[in-house]
Amino acid sequence: MSVIILDRVVKTYPNGTRAVKDIDLAIEPGHFTVILGPSGAGKSTLLRLMNGLEKPSEGTVSVHDTVLGKKNLRAIRREVGMVFQQFNLVGRLNVMTNVLTGRLAYRSWLGSVLHLFREEDFRIAQAALARVDLTEKAWVRADQLSGGQQQRVGIARALAQRPRVILADEPVASLDPLTSREVLDLLKGICQDDHIPVVANLHQVDYAREYADRVIGVNSGRVVFDGSPDQLTDAMVDELYQRAAPVKEPLHEASTLAHA
Ligand code: ADP
Repeated sequence: MSVIILDRVVKTYPNGTRAVKDIDLAIEPGHFTVILGPSGAGKSTLLRLMNGLEKPSEGTVSVHDTVLGKKNLRAIRREVGMVFQQFNLVGRLNVMTNVLTGRLAYRSWLGSVLHLFREEDFRIAQAALARVDLTEKAWVRADQLSGGQQQRVGIARALAQRPRVILADEPVASLDPLTSREVLDLLKGICQDDHIPVVANLHQVDYAREYADRVIGVNSGRVVFDGSPDQLTDAMVDELYQRAAPVKEPLHEASTLAHA
C-alpha cells in the first residue's frame, strides 16, 4: 500500500500562481524519497499538500488510503511528521517541551492548551530524544543548541508523533555540509531502521544522489523525472535545473515508479 497518493493534484494559490500542475504521485513505504528541483519549482507546496497544510485546488491527496478532508485532517496530520528548514522550535522552551509538542495532537483541546502531558508522553518523548542522541540536552533551552542539534530536536518532535511517514522540507538548507550529513544520515537511519518512510525536499543534487532511494525531479509544478539516483544523469540534472519554460510532458524516466 502506498503511504501517500496524489491523484491529479493541481494547486493554484489565491494570487493565481499555479504551483502544482496535475501531479500523479505515489510515495512508497521503505523509501527515502527526495523531491529535487530548483527554487520555486513547487517542492514545498507538494509537501504541504501531503500533510494537508495546503488544500488541492483540484484532485485528491490520500494518506494510507484515506482522502484528506476537513473532518479527518487532525487525525491524519498526526500520522505525518514534519521537519522544517528553520527547525520551528520554540527557542525559549527547553528541548523536552519542544519534543512533547509532538504529542499534542493526541491530547484533547484543553489538554493541549494547558500542556497537560501524560506519563506515556514523556516516555515517548524521551525515547525520541535518545533516538537523535540528545538525551543530555533535554532540559536545555532550545535556542542554546547549535543548528544541527536544533534540527535533531525537530526530528525528535516528529518522531514523538509516532508518525507513519516523515516529510522534511529542505531539512539541511540552513546547515553547514558536515552537519547536513549528520542530519541526512539520521533521517536515512530512521527510514531504514525504524521503517518510517521519509520524503525530503532538497535542492542539492549531490545529497539526492547519495541519500535517495528514489528521486522525484520537479520543475515548474510538474514531475519531470522519477527514478533511482543512478538514472539521474548529468544531462537529466541540466534539464531539471535549466528548464525555464513550463514543462509540457514528463520525461518518462522510470515513470512506472509513480504508480508502482
Ligand atoms: P519550492 O519549494 O520548490 O521553492 P514553492 O512550492 O515554495 O517552491 O513555490 C512554488 C511556486 O508557488 C513559486 O512560484 C512560489 O512563489 C509560489 N508560492 C508558494 N507559496 C505561495 C503562496 N502562499 N501564495 C502564492 N504563491 C506561492
